[in-house]
Amino acid sequence: MIWNKVETVSKDELHAIQSERLIKTVNRVYDNVGYYRKKMDAQGILPGDIKSIDDLSKLPFTDKYDLAENYPFGTFAAPMSEVVRFHASSGTTGKPKVAGYTRNDLAVWSECVARCLTMAGMTKEDMLHVAFGYGLFTGGFGLHQGSELIGAATIPVSGGNTERQITILTDFKPTYLCCTPSYALYIASELERMGKSKEDLNLKAGIFGAEPWTDEMKAEIEKKLGLKAYDIYGLTEITGPGVSMCCDENNGLHVCADHFVPEIINPDTLLPEGDNTVGELVFTTISKEAFPLIRYRTRDLTSIDSSPCACGRTSPRMARIMGRSDDMLIIRGVNVFPSQIESVILKSSDVAPYYMIYVDREGLLDTMKIKVEMNSELFSDEVKKIEAVERKLRHDIESVIGISASVELVEARTLPRFEGKAKHVIDNRKLYK
Ligand code: ADP
Ligand code: ZN
Repeated sequence: MIWNKVETVSKDELHAIQSERLIKTVNRVYDNVGYYRKKMDAQGILPGDIKSIDDLSKLPFTDKYDLAENYPFGTFAAPMSEVVRFHASSGTTGKPKVAGYTRNDLAVWSECVARCLTMAGMTKEDMLHVAFGYGLFTGGFGLHQGSELIGAATIPVSGGNTERQITILTDFKPTYLCCTPSYALYIASELERMGKSKEDLNLKAGIFGAEPWTDEMKAEIEKKLGLKAYDIYGLTEITGPGVSMCCDENNGLHVCADHFVPEIINPDTLLPEGDNTVGELVFTTISKEAFPLIRYRTRDLTSIDSSPCACGRTSPRMARIMGRSDDMLIIRGVNVFPSQIESVILKSSDVAPYYMIYVDREGLLDTMKIKVEMNSELFSDEVKKIEAVERKLRHDIESVIGISASVELVEARTLPRFEGKAKHVIDNRKLYK
């Protein structure tokens, strides 16, 4: 099922929609936001120079530093009397970014989330358990609004209090769950600890996002909770969750490109990249009123595929996010993404899917230590067996990331659990990226 016909329009039709909306947005920001006017003037670009979406790359970029300089409301393009809601980024990296929404902005956001939920097969017959946090974070409200628009029965549980989450999951028997992938795993392990299993639930599917996760993590969650897992992506600056979502074909996340136009750029040269080349994801919002963004550098790394999808949607698809450029660790000169390490750990059946990466510097040398929880069978095994598993993990991790790291297996349930976004890396080098 497809929520909105616009998801299936031809390339030409999408081009026309995007062009018309971009022109409107460029005029809006030029007329209302000093920041954009100055930037465009400095580059000698006038709104009239933008004649279609093909002119997008003539426009200047915006990044999180620009937002910090104009914090909190300096880039808003609507008067405060039109603003009906605020959200702010969770501040994972730096100063929070504040988003304002007009009534229409909220309607567009809900519409995009409704498309996403429909992609996961959700209808008004379903019941959605929202375990994303409600508050300044966009996760809870975002999924909630889209779910109500579809007409599904929506449970605003919010994050935390995992025992209560499980009581609701087993008593209300929702058919859909949404939260971060790491919280889904935590819920699964608490379920087990409470002597219950997926048989006590009625979940068909889960909609997970807000942090990078791997295919291995997806498989683990699907197995433990007995559901089909879908990936939802978004960021506060652009609107919140619902910017893109994977369909049943599981070949990338369909972007709501009639509202948010994606580009991939090479982060060094800032030049646009073609399809299927990994680079930094950049978005231009073309229907937002309060907080439009022109060529916003997300720092998320992915690629775009604009070929049509077997599901019938024609919207461009982004590959699963590899990570943020801010998350990339440079260890002894080698680029390492925590997701590469996660893939290896989750492939091993001797360890649990909980790990922490500690980076340090001894003298002039960077060191990396990875602590991984053993599963209960391994824990009761001989030391020799435990050492063999450690050796194997060390070897497998080294062959994936290209540098050595020490691996220490620790007792079950001793590493931190996360109710929202996970934090897997502690970098003690005090280097600045
Ligand atoms: P913060 O930057 O403080 O975490 P947000 O809560 O707005 O602020 O989070 C947005 C970011 O979360 C994205 O830029 C991206 O890095 C990450 N993210 C969101 N959804 C996904 C997803 N499905 N896969 C990977 N990363 C995601
Ligand atoms: Zn599809």
